[in-house]
Amino acid sequence: MSEFKCPECGYTYDEAVGDPHEGYSPGTRFENLPDDFACPDCSVRFKEDFEKA
Ligand SMILES: [Zn+2]
Repeated sequence: MSEFKCPECGYTYDEAVGDPHEGYSPGTRFENLPDDFACPDCSVRFKEDFEKA
């Protein structure tokens, strides 16, 4: 399980936790998020912008 961080606002997607509020269950791999995944916090950064923490 890894964490991926938004370079814009610092939001971190933790694969172990997921983001149930956004509809992603705990254990959802970052690579399995939709290709149009946008940062839930700032909405201006997309999946390819995230950096592995
Ligand atoms: Zn962000």
